[in-house]
Amino acid sequence: MDLFTLSDIVKAIRKKEVSFKEVVNFYLKQIDKHNPSLNAFLRLNEKGLKKIDTFKPQGLLGGVPLGIKDMFCTKGLKTTAASKMLGDYVPPYSATVIERLEQAGAFILGKCNNDEFAMGSAGKNSHYGVTKNPWDLSCVAGGSSSGSASAVAAHLCAGALGTDTGGSIRLPAHYCNLVGIKPTYGRISRYGMISYASSLDQAGPLTHTVEDGALILDAITGYDPKDSTTADLAPTQFHKQLNSQVKGMKVAYFNVFQENEDIHPEILESQEKVLKVLKERGCELIEKKWPFLDYGASVYYLISTSEASSNLSRYDGVRYGFRSKKSPKDLKDFYGFNRSEGFGLEVKRRILMGTFCLSTGYYEEYFHKACQVRYLIQQEFMEIFKTCDAILCPVSTNTAPKVKEDVNILKNYLNDQFTVFANLTGLPALSLPVHLSKQNLPIGAQLIAPAFKEQNILNIAKSLEEELQLYKEKPDGF
Ligand code: GLN
Repeated sequence: MDLFTLSDIVKAIRKKEVSFKEVVNFYLKQIDKHNPSLNAFLRLNEKGLKKIDTFKPQGLLGGVPLGIKDMFCTKGLKTTAASKMLGDYVPPYSATVIERLEQAGAFILGKCNNDEFAMGSAGKNSHYGVTKNPWDLSCVAGGSSSGSASAVAAHLCAGALGTDTGGSIRLPAHYCNLVGIKPTYGRISRYGMISYASSLDQAGPLTHTVEDGALILDAITGYDPKDSTTADLAPTQFHKQLNSQVKGMKVAYFNVFQENEDIHPEILESQEKVLKVLKERGCELIEKKWPFLDYGASVYYLISTSEASSNLSRYDGVRYGFRSKKSPKDLKDFYGFNRSEGFGLEVKRRILMGTFCLSTGYYEEYFHKACQVRYLIQQEFMEIFKTCDAILCPVSTNTAPKVKEDVNILKNYLNDQFTVFANLTGLPALSLPVHLSKQNLPIGAQLIAPAFKEQNILNIAKSLEEELQLYKEKPDGF
């Protein structure tokens, strides 16, 4: 099959140039061949696959096979958050986004690997093993939406759904030559999405092109009575309004990176390249100072671990969750066994950190302080957007690291230093492919827009995509 963008597939099925079954079989073959080396899919939707003969490929996403991060509940299909804690969990209901994808005609092909409870940036924290990057199998695919990114990049599915709490869609998109979109907080329902840090979590697509991402968004956005944090807005129509004419748009950029010794020179070059294209296409470029750049990661890790410690307290092995075989002598023992055996190291580290931040005596000093700085960051971004339509910045300091590379925890946390701002502020942001390094590893660029102005950055990204055409590049052998 020569089609590989999601929109090409929808059109081809609609025109009967290819059948839905042929498309599914193409991806199943790809999975058979490549999943053993990538570890991108954790399991297939066997029940759904048994019914493909009667499946009706109609609607916006008619017949498109999608990979779903294992953080979304799928009715009757095991959902583990890549944790031993939920190793046997079969949800009795589907997340709102899954229902909406199905209503739009998408086919859920299977569940994708991720860092346990979406905590990580390399995909190495999954209980079910690391996911590899198809661009270089010795490198990670990025996290925490590792399997979703790897699967799309290697053409194991047409597009995928991820979650982004501090960069988990944008970072793997950057490492894998994909478009990854984190919409405005409140755009998409979180009902049925396993919580990591509720004030930061958002769902979003990973795809080859901007149009593909817009199509998935249009299927899943809009108010949901089951999630009181969704904005009272109708579903979006981004794909219809995509327009690569960006003349006159005002794009802010930051010049702080030249002084950052940790940033890869080719990332700096790629930013220059993007600025040049934007200028040629008539954008007005405005230099700004990045507000509180040094504080983003600290604020993010204080808030996200605090929220996580509270969210994850529900996994006690009583109604659901892993239950230890050891015999407890009392209730405390019972919880202790279940939780210490069920959670992995990084999750436990974060629960401890978060519990500490929220405890009496430290709450004011850590959690409360972090919330105050978060507010200041929000104000500063709003100030920037008084005169700009979008911000351009890097996604990360480097290309995909090696699987074997042993980085210290703090350095790992700093992988998100440029992405966490969109989550702390709730602003929409995306990552799109802009360069391939000398080592043939993908490099992305990040665009951030004012709240609910996703169309601004989708259009700018479309314009860059038209010029750079990087989505046409394929990793060798896939
Ligand atoms: N890497 C960040 C973390 O580990 C972000 C994760 C995410 O966005 N889910 O918290």
